[in-house]
Amino acid sequence: MNLSMTGELAAAYKSGSIRAGVVTEAWGEQNLYCPNCSSPNLERLKPNTKASDFQCPVCKFWYQLKGQKSPIRSSITDGAYGAMMAAIHEDKTPNFYFLHYDLATWRIQNLLLIPHFAFPPSAIIKRAPLSATARRAGWVGCNIALSRIPVDARILVVEAGRAASPAEVRARFKRVQPLADLPVNLRGWTLDVLNVVAAVCLPVRSFGAKDGDRRKISGAGGGRFVGPPYLGDDEASPSKVFTLRLGGLA
Ligand SMILES: [Zn+2]
Repeated sequence: MNLSMTGELAAAYKSGSIRAGVVTEAWGEQNLYCPNCSSPNLERLKPNTKASDFQCPVCKFWYQLKGQKSPIRSSITDGAYGAMMAAIHEDKTPNFYFLHYDLATWRIQNLLLIPHFAFPPSAIIKRAPLSATARRAGWVGCNIALSRIPVDARILVVEAGRAASPAEVRARFKRVQPLADLPVNLRGWTLDVLNVVAAVCLPVRSFGAKDGDRRKISGAGGGRFVGPPYLGDDEASPSKVFTLRLGGLA
């Protein structure tokens, strides 16, 4: 994966959003690959749309690439609230590639992949309707709360300017894939539960747990999570607990 985008492509345009779209879409066409199969590339579906659409030519998985010049934080601005919620309920959500690039150098800093089956409705936060004076008055957009997506389903393809290997990305994608087999009406609940499990385990680690400790895991709120035997830091990590839970669902 080439982490340098071709900034010269922006020269012909003045609008910042169009410049960014042209450059990131061209980069995606050359560099994005499919984590669901072995396809080394994705095909661009609709050029010049705000959210770029790509499709795997082999397995036909659908992807949206959303680029931003600011770092990816806990919340990402997305499109229409109603459309996103309908997509989740109908199991038609695309897979998302969230891209953070440095505007001065057009270099990729971070690229986050969220599989289509990993969005619980609780992660879609309704924004206030646009004001009466806005061009699209009354339109309701949404934010995606990344913290409500299970940690193992937030797959960093590029982190701090370093790309993970495609094999590693595909392995991580495969590990969370059992979620796709859950009926869509149970999936949101399951994702929320998995996220709570991870959150319950996190405070234990920050309270100075040592490798090799064997004890039950107590939650921050006093609730007890009788999880897998606490064999060490790795065994109790949210990702490990998540994986064990996924194994139970499969
Ligand atoms: Zn594919």
